[in-house]
Amino acid sequence: MRSRSVFSALLPPSTAGWLSRTFSINVAPEDAVEFDRQSVKAIRPFVRAASLCIMLYYAIVSAVNLVWEDGLSFWILNVLSIPATIISALLYPYIQKADTAQKLQIASLILTMLMYANALGNQIVYYEAPSLVYFVLILIVYAIMSPSLKGFVPCALISIGTMLVLAAQDSLNMLHQFLWIALAGTIASLALATTMRMNLLRTVHARLIAEKMAQHDALTGLPNRRQFFDELNRRIRKKNPFDLVVIDLDGFKPVNDVYGHATGDLLLIEVGQRLQHICRERGLVARLGGDEFALILNPHDSDDSLHQFTSHLCDTLRETYILSGGIQARISASAGYLHADTSKGHSGSQLLERADYALYYAKQNLRGAPVLFTERHEAEMRDFSLIDQTLRACDLEAELYVVFQPQYDLVRQKTIGFEALARWQNPKLGEVSPDVFIRAAERSGLISDITQRLLHKAFAAVQDWPEDVSISFNLSTRDLRSARSITRICQAVTQSGITPRRIEFEITETVMLTDFEPALEAVNRLKALGVRIALDDFGSGYSSLGYIHQLPVDKIKIDRTFVTQLLKHDSARKIVRAILSLCSTLGLTHVVEGVESEAECELLRKNGARFIQGYLIARPMASDQVLGYLRTEGIQMPQLADGR
Ligand code: C2E
Ligand code: MG
Ligand code: MG
Repeated sequence: MRSRSVFSALLPPSTAGWLSRTFSINVAPEDAVEFDRQSVKAIRPFVRAASLCIMLYYAIVSAVNLVWEDGLSFWILNVLSIPATIISALLYPYIQKADTAQKLQIASLILTMLMYANALGNQIVYYEAPSLVYFVLILIVYAIMSPSLKGFVPCALISIGTMLVLAAQDSLNMLHQFLWIALAGTIASLALATTMRMNLLRTVHARLIAEKMAQHDALTGLPNRRQFFDELNRRIRKKNPFDLVVIDLDGFKPVNDVYGHATGDLLLIEVGQRLQHICRERGLVARLGGDEFALILNPHDSDDSLHQFTSHLCDTLRETYILSGGIQARISASAGYLHADTSKGHSGSQLLERADYALYYAKQNLRGAPVLFTERHEAEMRDFSLIDQTLRACDLEAELYVVFQPQYDLVRQKTIGFEALARWQNPKLGEVSPDVFIRAAERSGLISDITQRLLHKAFAAVQDWPEDVSISFNLSTRDLRSARSITRICQAVTQSGITPRRIEFEITETVMLTDFEPALEAVNRLKALGVRIALDDFGSGYSSLGYIHQLPVDKIKIDRTFVTQLLKHDSARKIVRAILSLCSTLGLTHVVEGVESEAECELLRKNGARFIQGYLIARPMASDQVLGYLRTEGIQMPQLADGR
């Protein structure tokens, strides 16, 4: 019991940070464990080299002893040198695996004890005054290899003490000489050990800081993209299942634009803190860049509990932020998440791509909410990549064309215009729905080119139409975000020679939610040409009446979902009536989309609708059918127009 406590007094404590404390290196508490780990890694080669040298030295000594010695000295010296060779050889693999300073210290003490025992044995058998200097050498070797200086004093006392006792037994003169050698040896080994250790630990500390900086986001202090991928790949390698969540803030850009980057930075820091607070011990929270964050979490029990967690996450990020200067910022966050089954063999970037896909879906359809990546998304992604590749390789000019669907005035009983709708006929894929290929083109960045081609084709068709028939063209959210794209659209309008009042651009609410400022600027540029703007699919998503008066729109296109509900639910009727009366109050015109039956048409008419579009009037038609269709107007009733 007593010997154990004496021995443990020679060992460094096993608590994190003892090395940094010993040498007064200012290591952050959260880095203490890593600092110790790296320090042990740096000190290990010294102990390893010492054990190797000691083994070699005593192997030679043993060989010499076996050949030259005889009698009692043969036994004494070999009993000391042979075990010293074997023990130091056995210690080598132990040191190689040693992962704590304590283990290294134990090895150093054993090696020192072996050297001490041999030096003492030698002096007992053959006393040689010059060989007393070995006791100083022992101290120097110990000082070089020991991870801490904790055992230095006892080692010095024993080793130097023995040397002095032996010298004193020789003569007073010898004692006098060796007193100075002892003093010089002790000071030299202490200075050597301290300087070496200090420099070594400082280098470790500097490397730790550099590594930390390379792995952390400078603004939020969260792990950055690099560390995120390291952790992702580590979990995949170890086949540890986990949950992956990617988060993108909605409405961050306006905060940045309105209040400045310093406030934007504070907001990001607070978002990081909230995320860390929610995730605490559950896993890693990283900032991937901009306003995008990602979480790698220990797996939840079920999709339900993961959904609850991500919903809680989105709710928390939606709470008002009080920033410096009392600025109140309100943003929301959309999330894409999945349970990563590491047995499926997906790489880190493939998993991130999937979570990103779900996030994209959330952004487009369920802003401020989490979306789970499902099998349906997987199938969509496969289709998407096929469509994407085909779009890039195909002859867009030859394969893209435009069809036209009439917009009808129920009062004057005539067509007032046509909506241009994109079509893509590919030899390999056949007819691809615009919903699908427009989305693919938006994601791949091809949309601007596609819009241009479609616009030219649509404008070419309009040249033959009567002056009182207008053209409505759908713009993608991407078109509105890009100033370059808008410039090209403006040029197409001016070069077409069509009276701008006859041209209408349809935009959706989505762009207003994500990029209000640039979209507003784009709309204003188009309006300045004299064209009209229609808000498409009104009521299909997160309609905000707030946008209607903030945007210079001329027309609201009431979404088909209301029409399908019209006959079934009284509430749909009330909503349509309310929207129509809002339009007339604001001086806006309207079109009700997707009218398929006489009954719907009648009900709409009764509730104040005047302009409709839908299969009841006509399905989208090829450009060369438009004039023939217009010629029949006035002769045939609307319900007969498409031959039904
Ligand atoms: P949208 O702009 O809301 O177009 C109306 C869609 O409703 C068209 O589908 C049209 O064929 C369909 N539709 C019209 N009447 C009825 C009806 O009575 N019943 C039903 N069930 N559907 C009806 P389409 O042509 O498949 O286009 C789908 C969407 O693709 C469009 O929705 C629009 O968002 C987008 N799109 C089409 N062409 C273009 C384009 O040139 N550029 C861009 N950016 N998007 C386009
Ligand atoms: Mg449209
Ligand atoms: Mg629409």
